[in-house]
Parts: sequence; C-alpha cells; structure tokens
Amino acid sequence: MVDSSASILVQREVAAEATFNGSQKPKPESWSPSSWTAKPIKQDAIYTDRKNVEKSLAKLQRLPPIVTPSEIVKLKDSLRDVALGKAFLLQGGDCAELFDYCEENAIESKIKLLLQMSLVLIWGINKPVVRIARMAGQYAKPRSSPTEMVNGKEISSFRGDILNGYDINERTLDPSRLVSAYFHSAATLNFVRASLSSGIADLHRPLDWGLGHVQDPELQAKYSSIVASITDSLRFMQTVGADTAGQLRTVDLFTSHEGLLLEYEQSLTRRLKRPTSGTTPLTRGPADGTAAADGQAYYNTSAHFLWVGDRTRQIDGAHIEYFRGIENPIGVKIGPTTASSDILTLLRTLNPSREVGKITLITRYGASKVRDLLPSHIRIVEGSEYTRCVVWQCDPMHGNTRSTSTGIKTRQFADIFTELSETLAIHKEQGSYLGGVHLELTGDAVTECTGGSEGLKDADLSLNYTSFCDPRLNEKQALEMAFLIAGHFRG
Ligand code: PEP
Ligand code: MN
Repeated sequence: MVDSSASILVQREVAAEATFNGSQKPKPESWSPSSWTAKPIKQDAIYTDRKNVEKSLAKLQRLPPIVTPSEIVKLKDSLRDVALGKAFLLQGGDCAELFDYCEENAIESKIKLLLQMSLVLIWGINKPVVRIARMAGQYAKPRSSPTEMVNGKEISSFRGDILNGYDINERTLDPSRLVSAYFHSAATLNFVRASLSSGIADLHRPLDWGLGHVQDPELQAKYSSIVASITDSLRFMQTVGADTAGQLRTVDLFTSHEGLLLEYEQSLTRRLKRPTSGTTPLTRGPADGTAAADGQAYYNTSAHFLWVGDRTRQIDGAHIEYFRGIENPIGVKIGPTTASSDILTLLRTLNPSREVGKITLITRYGASKVRDLLPSHIRIVEGSEYTRCVVWQCDPMHGNTRSTSTGIKTRQFADIFTELSETLAIHKEQGSYLGGVHLELTGDAVTECTGGSEGLKDADLSLNYTSFCDPRLNEKQALEMAFLIAGHFRG
C-alpha cells in the first residue's frame, strides 16, 4: 500500500523547513515510500495548483504497475552477472524523452539500434549483453538553472514533459502531465513488448547495417568485417539448429529513467510479493532487514531500473532516502563533484546488505578529468567491503558537453570515445571490471554530436538538431561507438 496523497502534502511542508547544514531532523529509522518527504530536496517541483497534483497522484496510485517484480528480479540477476564480470551492460536512449516520441517509428528505430549495438558488443566482448533502454519514462530533467532567457524574456526552464512543455507558453508546471507520463510510459512499453514478441529482434531476419556513410576505407573494411563475422555466426547457429529453444527469436529489453520526480515515483511504489522465480540474491554482507516476514518488498513499478542523477545524490537528501528503500536495481551518477568520502557512504546507505549488482556506479567525469579522478574512486570501492559488488558503468556523455561558438550544445564523438577508452584502460590497471556503457542516443539521423565517420562539423549541427535537452549520438555514431568498443576488446 502506498501512503495517502494527503500525507504527502503535510510531510512536504515539514521537508521544506529542513536544510543541508546539519540542522535537519534526525534520520528516520524506518523507511516508507514517503519518508523522503522529511528530507531536504534538490530540483523540487513546486506546483501552484496543489489540488490537481493530489488528484493526479491519487490516480497514479490506483493504476496498475507498469513493470512487475518478476521482471525487476530478472534484471537484478543479469546485473549480478555484470558485477561479477560475466556480462556487459548497454544502456541508452534519449536525454529527455518527449511524449511525442511515443510513436511507432521512433520506438522501433531505438529498439533496432540497441539490438544491433548489443550484437556488436557480444561479438567484441564475448559475453552476454544486458540491454536497458532510457525509455518509457525518461520524462523528468534536472536543470542547472530554473529559468532561461528566451527572446530577451526570462521564463521557466523546460523540465521534461512530465512537468511542463517545451513550448514557451507551456512552461508552467502542469499536474495533469503526471498522469500523462504514466500513459505514455505504458504505451511505449506496450509497443516495445509487442514488437519484441512479434519478432523485431528475431535474429533469423537480416539486419540493415547501413555502413555506406563510412568514408575511410580502412574503417569501412574493419566495420564490414565485423558485420560479416556476426552474420556468419548467426547463419552457422541457424544451420546447426542451435536455436532449439527459440532464443534467437527475441531478446530482453529493460526500461529505465532518472528517478527525479519523487512524487511520481512514490505513487508507483508498491509493496508486492517477492517473486519465487529468479535466483537467491548473492550478498556479501549482513541481511539488511528488508526481507520482511510476509515475503513482500517495495518495488518501484514505473521502470525496471532507476538512477539518481548527479545533482540529486546528496547523502542526506530526499532522493537517496527514497532510493534506499526500493528493491529495484539502481544507478548513481558519480562525477567530478562527488567527494571520494561520499561514495562508500552512498553504498552503505543504498545497499547495506551488499547485494551484488544492486548498485551501478555510473561514472561521468569528462575526457580531460577521468584519468585524475576515476582511479581513486575505484580504489575506494574495490578496497572496501564492496569489492566486486558494484557494476561500474561509463557514461561518456555528460562530462563532455560543450557549446559551439554560436551557442549550440554539442559533444564531440572523439571526446566521448576518449573518456570511454580511458575508463577501460583505468579499470584494467586497477584490476576492476568496466561492466557497461551509458549513452544518449537516438535511432534517428539527427545532427547533435560532431565527429564520427560521417564527419559532422559544428556547421552541420543545425541540419537536424532536434533534441530538447542534451545532444545525442545518431544511429550511425552510436553503432560506430559499439564497433569501437568491440574493437577495443578484440584488440
Ligand atoms: C542525464 O543522464 O541526462 C543527466 C542529467 O545526467 P547527470 O545526472 O549525470 O548530469
Ligand atoms: Mn542528458
């Protein structure tokens, strides 16, 4: 049962008085889906129309789960394998998913791209790949400033479709968007599930690799030989009848988003029976007491995987309080502003029982800073009781954003790959395992990041720049990134 929306309101007023300066109320011993409301919160959504917020939250609390505990546990099992070095994690999708992206072609192209990238990675790394889409719920965005200047006028920033609209006339927070987010999320996931069960990921079907844009003959030859090798392997498996159980007909694709808007997340947090399927979690520490006698636990049913953003991971803040109580596997963004001393506190707060693979540390320093900062962060974790317990994932996007001379937000393909290869090298030196990548990408032919084999320049960015938030790799750049990662492993 979730708390009543009326109590959310009362507790939020209490929370508003709390501060980060150590004078806040004592940490509550017990967790509940609403215990975050007693904590100071960053990136808060302050609505003027509170009555309609409560109405939307009450509606959300009645709606059925979007994902189920069985699916969440299945992902946890897979992430345990990633933490143990037996599998690799590919996570990708839009920076800000718009409600408008809930459309057949946009969804299909993203599924196909993630599938193709995963095949390249499986080939290169020689390990199973776990796929998580930043999709079906990535609607809330943290912003560096609450306002922006548009045509000389200061207006509220766009905070993601769950809160307000990009159109300058829709910047007021609109409570009806909370419910709209649920339905767009559910419709997107419904089409993902339907496409998968209808054979979109059927590996018996030829895939369109479209390498025509690769100008460099050496790269063209290299990528073509990877594709030939993958195609040959698939054909061989089919010929020898290796697909008796039909594993080549579909794949798992999990969903994820940043758990930013806690009222929404709370409303979809349900106390449900732990599935009896799935393997027993592998823990390296004492039981954390959450395994209640009634065999139930709290699941966030809005997505399989949620992460805490770089701006909201304060140890005594609302987001960490919320995240410490849910069963889902969770990510935490770690960057140049993360104090080394915070990392173990975060792990001890979020995963006291040391469940292997429960936490993914999503590192995002930037190409120029990763060498200075990542090694000590790895040593702190791997030298502690959390050794071989976390999934290390590299997000080479968020530390590499820059503005062009004309003020367009972009990222250079080379910087993204530099951070990724440095991260791989550093993990190798430290004896740890880089278990995954986290990319902002789209299946469309956008021009938002420069570089890659198409050779996009600053001047080309205006050709098809459609992101309403951060610049994404287009389908060619994303696939090329997968080729480069695979090449790195194959040597
Ligand atoms: C994001 O993943 O879109 C994001 C805002 O990242 P970060 O929290 O790392 O800045
Ligand atoms: Mn982003």
